[in-house]
Amino acid sequence: HMPTEDLRALDAAHHLHPFTHGAELKEKGVRIITRARGVYLTDSDGNEILDAMSGLWCVNIGYGRTELAEVAARQMRELPYYNTFFQTTHVPVIALAARLAEIAPEGMDHAFFASSGSEANDTNIRLVRHYWAAMGKPDKQVIVSRKNAYHGSTMGGASLGGMQPMHAQGGLPIPGIVHIDQPYWWGEGGDMDPAEFGLARARQLEQTIEELGEDKVAAFIAEPIQGAGGVIIPPETYWPEIQRICDEHEILLIADEVICGFGRTGEWFGSQAMNIRPDIMTIAKGVTSGYQPVGGSIVRDTVAEVLNAHGEFFHGYTYSGHPVAAAVALENLRIIEEEEVLRHVREVAAPHLARAWARLGEHPMVGDVQSFGMLAGVALTPDKERRAAFASPKGTVGQRCRERCFANGVVMRHVGDRMIVCPPLVITPEEIDTMVDRAWRAIDETFEQ
Ligand code: PLP
Repeated sequence: HMPTEDLRALDAAHHLHPFTHGAELKEKGVRIITRARGVYLTDSDGNEILDAMSGLWCVNIGYGRTELAEVAARQMRELPYYNTFFQTTHVPVIALAARLAEIAPEGMDHAFFASSGSEANDTNIRLVRHYWAAMGKPDKQVIVSRKNAYHGSTMGGASLGGMQPMHAQGGLPIPGIVHIDQPYWWGEGGDMDPAEFGLARARQLEQTIEELGEDKVAAFIAEPIQGAGGVIIPPETYWPEIQRICDEHEILLIADEVICGFGRTGEWFGSQAMNIRPDIMTIAKGVTSGYQPVGGSIVRDTVAEVLNAHGEFFHGYTYSGHPVAAAVALENLRIIEEEEVLRHVREVAAPHLARAWARLGEHPMVGDVQSFGMLAGVALTPDKERRAAFASPKGTVGQRCRERCFANGVVMRHVGDRMIVCPPLVITPEEIDTMVDRAWRAIDETFEQ
């Protein structure tokens, strides 16, 4: 390929990047990734970087699995495209829907496809509103979500999300979406113990339902473990209370499994790890390990039956159930099953990550050392005893640390001043040790600065 500097100049001249500060991009230049294998990326200068974020939380089986490339090529030769509108379908999407029904929790045997998590969450907004109208309760339209949540970048996805800067650009949220607080005990729990705090945060849902009226609230959406919000692992009391509230008030529960799904927690879905019973699950990312764009909604049979009995759902995407993407998803699910990736997570990788990650807690600038399955986070703090945050602007220390991560050969993400990881599920214990050693060095260099 062209020399790195020429590629950078072309990129700066023509490419508008998602979630990127334009001026910083021009000043520092982009990092150009050219190849990847296993858990390692190679950049255009030949540097090897351990990808502790699985790309954007998606490369669950790791990079370089040529089986997926072969399946894609075969499917492109046989049937590169056909749609699933107007009473047509094709073999890969039939097989994928049936396979998802096998691995999904009991009674969730239906799937509606899209190409991304954002599109799937847009589907969910329309789907739950259509469902309640079909049930003769057309006023049940409000969806409750959480502050700091990320559910996508479309108008619907960004509205469900609770990120203030996203709302500020473009006049969001769209009507009928409200946000309650996230269950982030370390940062927001004050004097409460975690159990008490988990209940208090869950009961905000009940208060909201009571304020708005049960006849107005359609659904609650949340990730089993909040990912882009900072890897927020809720106190144990949180989810059982949310489940009780949804059941008692007839509110549909939407579990956004875009990050937690497909083995991240050691189960197929985070809902299983948290022991919750969703009515809809949003999927994307890990369903193909990022090798092809697939998103979707896995829908409880009782909900699907109502939809099927009430005429046409006027909704769909050109690439809903794309045959090449569906074939790749099936191959990815086959690999996860045959190579016992869930067992690897439960018995090897997650316990090792928990032990290795805990070492970061010995650093004077690190508090709130948490992991669950293959998700982990720490808070950078000037005073861990007081659970203090750095003085504003929030995120400055986190951003500096992220830059030190790259310099030390590891990709971590910062959310404010929290540092988070989400490595490929197939990572080995030795690679986990390398990841944590590099993370320690990055944190330590940030501390020394
Ligand atoms: N939901 C969650 C929980 C996510 O983390 C993301 C993306 O990071 C999305 C939805 C949006 O998915 P996509 O980027 O595929 O549109």
